[in-house]
Amino acid sequence: MPAVDPPYAFLAELTHRCPLACPYCSNPLDLARAASELGTADWGRIMREAAELGAMQVHLSGGEPLARRDLETILVDAHRAGLYTNLITAAVSLSEARLDRLAGAGLDHVQISLQDADAPAADWVAGMQGAHARKLRAAAAVRARGLALTLNVVVHRHNLDRIEEVIELALDAGAGRLEIAHAQYHGWALANRAALLPRPDQVRRAMAVVAAQTARLRGRMAIDHVLPDHMAVRPKACMGGWGRRFFVVTPDGRAMPCHAAATIPDMVFPSLRDTSLREAWGRSEAFQRFRGTDWMPDPCRSCERREIDWGGCRCQALAMAGAAAATDPACALSPAHGRMAAAVAAAGNEDFRPRRF
Ligand code: SF4
Ligand code: SF4
Repeated sequence: MPAVDPPYAFLAELTHRCPLACPYCSNPLDLARAASELGTADWGRIMREAAELGAMQVHLSGGEPLARRDLETILVDAHRAGLYTNLITAAVSLSEARLDRLAGAGLDHVQISLQDADAPAADWVAGMQGAHARKLRAAAAVRARGLALTLNVVVHRHNLDRIEEVIELALDAGAGRLEIAHAQYHGWALANRAALLPRPDQVRRAMAVVAAQTARLRGRMAIDHVLPDHMAVRPKACMGGWGRRFFVVTPDGRAMPCHAAATIPDMVFPSLRDTSLREAWGRSEAFQRFRGTDWMPDPCRSCERREIDWGGCRCQALAMAGAAAATDPACALSPAHGRMAAAVAAAGNEDFRPRRF
């Protein structure tokens, strides 16, 4: 077996519990119950094993990681292992006292998700009255403690036209970075795709606004925004390539190359309850199946971009082209590329299904 490079970062999905109900949530429809979650000691061991393997960063996520009462202990273990710690939170339950405890436990960075710049619209999408105001208070508390702050806004048909307001809000909140992320159509977002996909004219206008604002705000606030897959002609390197830079640990302890990989029906993921992370990363079939370029069919196999985008997204290939090993339909060279445009054409202002257990 060829030597495998170490991972750079990983997403620790500590729980699927969350007080919000975002219809674009990347969690699976079959949410993990609290009783199946890994314990504190398991997470501590995973932090140490990840650092020993070479990982530099852990993104503590969910669901809502604040739902874990042992988050401080998990943070201490991650910090002691030498990992840079990023808390990805909806922040509606982030009190000042909890934030102090988390900062004391070694928290380096906080990423707060916002639903919109317009409070009623944000609360509607989040499924909670007053959520937006709570998030803004939490963002102010993060900045008051000198912690690095990123704001993340998932954009879709119902908020993309307020992109200027989102950027101004992030600037006012003192964010060092704003991530404008188009919904990734896995999990709940795939179930709600017809209600969420933006129109092409919305996307084109938003791209122009972001380009102008990025130039205006250079040196004050970084803005991340990329063309969504359904408007692209070439895919992105999903997760930096399958099993190359990144892995995900689910609340019940399965190690996966990406958060949607469980949608691939014949794939068995190693459980970190009884498998070491080194074994899972280096030797498990799940991490090896789409690693590198040997698995690629044509046109990827002979394409000059095969070590740039690593063939794009396997889960999107499964969802749109019917096979995880197919060429990502975001690529114009895929025979299924037309299905991306067809999905956009079929989208409309219909109701979405809130994410719930
Ligand atoms: S996307 Fe929304 S529902 Fe899903 S975990 Fe984040 S805050 Fe909770
Ligand atoms: S053919 Fe494959 S490798 Fe080439 S650009 Fe398309 S998805 Fe990427």
